[in-house]
Amino acid sequence: MQYGIASYSEKMPPRLRRLPEIAYNFWWSWHRPARDLFKYLDYPLWRSTEHNPVSMLDEVTVERLNELATDPLFLRQYDAVLVALDSVLKNGHLWFPKTFDVLADRPIAYFSAEFGLHQSLSIYSGGLGVLAGDHIKETSDLGIPFTAVGFLYERGYFRQHMTPDGWQEAIYPRFKPEDVAVQEVLTDGESTFVPVELDGRTINLMVWQVQVGRNRLYLMDADHELNSPWDRELTSTLYGGDQDMRIRQEILLGIGGLRVLRKLSISPAVLHINEGHSAFLVLEQARELVAEGMSFAEASDIVRSRTVFTTHTPVPAGHDVFPFHLVEKYFHGYWPKLGLSREEFLALGTQPADPHGFNMTVLALRLAGQTNGVSQMHGTVSRQMFHSLWPEGRVEDVPIGHVTNGIHVASWIGNAMNRIFRKYVAPDWIDRQDEAILWERILDVPDEELWSAHLHLKRKLMTLIRERARQMRIEGLLTPEQVLCSGTLLDPDALIIGFARRFATYKRAGLIFEDLERLKRLVHDRHRPVQFIFSGKAHPADEGGKRLLQQVYNVAKDPAMGGRIAFIEDYDMQVARYLVQGVDVWLNTPRCPYEASGTSGQKAATNGVPNLSVLDGWWAEGYNGSNGWAIAATGVCEDVQMQDRADAAELYRLLEDEVVPLFYRRDDAGVPHGWLRVMKEAIRTSVPVFSTRRMVKDYTERYYVPAARRP
Ligand SMILES: *Cc1c(COP(=O)(O)O)cnc(C)c1O
Repeated sequence: MQYGIASYSEKMPPRLRRLPEIAYNFWWSWHRPARDLFKYLDYPLWRSTEHNPVSMLDEVTVERLNELATDPLFLRQYDAVLVALDSVLKNGHLWFPKTFDVLADRPIAYFSAEFGLHQSLSIYSGGLGVLAGDHIKETSDLGIPFTAVGFLYERGYFRQHMTPDGWQEAIYPRFKPEDVAVQEVLTDGESTFVPVELDGRTINLMVWQVQVGRNRLYLMDADHELNSPWDRELTSTLYGGDQDMRIRQEILLGIGGLRVLRKLSISPAVLHINEGHSAFLVLEQARELVAEGMSFAEASDIVRSRTVFTTHTPVPAGHDVFPFHLVEKYFHGYWPKLGLSREEFLALGTQPADPHGFNMTVLALRLAGQTNGVSQMHGTVSRQMFHSLWPEGRVEDVPIGHVTNGIHVASWIGNAMNRIFRKYVAPDWIDRQDEAILWERILDVPDEELWSAHLHLKRKLMTLIRERARQMRIEGLLTPEQVLCSGTLLDPDALIIGFARRFATYKRAGLIFEDLERLKRLVHDRHRPVQFIFSGKAHPADEGGKRLLQQVYNVAKDPAMGGRIAFIEDYDMQVARYLVQGVDVWLNTPRCPYEASGTSGQKAATNGVPNLSVLDGWWAEGYNGSNGWAIAATGVCEDVQMQDRADAAELYRLLEDEVVPLFYRRDDAGVPHGWLRVMKEAIRTSVPVFSTRRMVKDYTERYYVPAARRP
């Protein structure tokens, strides 16, 4: 079976020969004219495939294609998109080649266990993956030579369905490569395989590629008949299985990942480890150098000089720590190749302050020379967490810096908001988005126009919610009661507060339910009702997270809430996009200081949706007193319940005294001028700063280029 662009060669009319090439480059997803092209191609298919051009090409009729091949309007658009695509691929006048003279043919290589590029490629579970996807897109926009490596999980991340009593069911639909924009990497016309030894046998990893603008993501896949049946499952699910499964996956990611690059003759100048999952990469680099005749000490210096490591969470359980016996099982044949004894090897991953296993973060911190957390606060917390690795110095001197996360603005901005920005900020605002001065112009947008753009996006969210509920009802997946709590009773004229993220306990989705009577008073205010939309998945093995989800779901289902609290099933990038663009306020209530950065609030702010959030992660840097609301850190209490009660009380107070009155203060035409001031301030302060534009430039200037310049 042939996958990919070539499989469409017969179906395509010659005039539309390059259409599959557009469909197979995720660039279409953030280039509006390319998106419009696929909408025009067949709008019902666009909707039914959840915006998946590859499925669309598969399903669209030959008659329709022939019709389009003679449709002047379509052809004009098609030609314009191709001109834009070719110019992206050429990369002449982009920021990086204009600014730096390094990395001509030696890319940055970026390793991550998950990538969120688009909802059609379900190889992400949450913020970490979406950030990695946004990072690749931005490197393409900036012209940075960049290659990413990850897994093609054939069962991807699970799809969520809620039972009538609020229990999360996880469904793992099997991935079909022909439905998604992935292509086999061929070597002399044959599939490409990379061997990795695991406990005495060899796993052959098949290699796929995904085109992301000018850059490429390679995905490894063990599901091939060359491997024994039990090994074929190794790359099937994201964060599935036990510790043994997990360490094997991470060996494939770090060690197999580097071998993929070698196999394809890609020699990276800098290697970037995105979270500890891929940290074995440092060992494989060292092994290569030792094989060339270096000592381990010499090899480590070189590895350090060219490796960047980003740590992503202050939650201790978020760091992989493997029992020593598992590490021995898989590495007893490996440490001699590094010239190390068993003790020296195990010590590489052992944290002096907590020597109870082999910690992947510790391994990466020891062997990556430039390391960072993902917000200012997270940098500070990380230096404290890992002080014991540098015991001789002060905690401030621990060499972990920070680069605050951002979002790929072109991927997250709503159409209606984009039109406003083009008209009032600059027609080419997307290219100049990090010029802070430009965003002063947002203050000139007439209130009526900004409000109507927002209401348009809010209506689109309502439509999505209704149509999803209708479809699931038709398919027999929802009881009538579930239909009512899935958002179909929401009033689009009333305030809507959004809360959507993974249901990890530290995110405290249930904080707003601390005082149900007070909540009911807010929800049922006759003149100024408050509504909530919740969405998010709990990790299937996280019982606490699933119980939290059930609590939220049951409140939503409670007839006493009158459908003003909604739960949207199966949170993914598609649902996220509609939510961050369409709600009125973005709520975030992490237990401080566990939100390393958070990015969904940045997506919201960019669309003029103000944040109401605990002063943690990015919001501790982003909040300026007039661009949203802060649940002030009352000092982190030792007593978790006391802290929750204090934060909840502050949350109710802000809603009652500030958010609700401001939202409902209208002029005769129903325009909330005071509210619009906050919206504008949210846009002005977030777009130029909390974007991957600023973030990737930071990584490039501070880490990539200096590392690439080292001899
Ligand atoms: C942006 C995004 C996230 C990140 O959410 P935070 O809670 O802000 O970290 C998670 N999941 C999806 C689908 C997203 O789009």
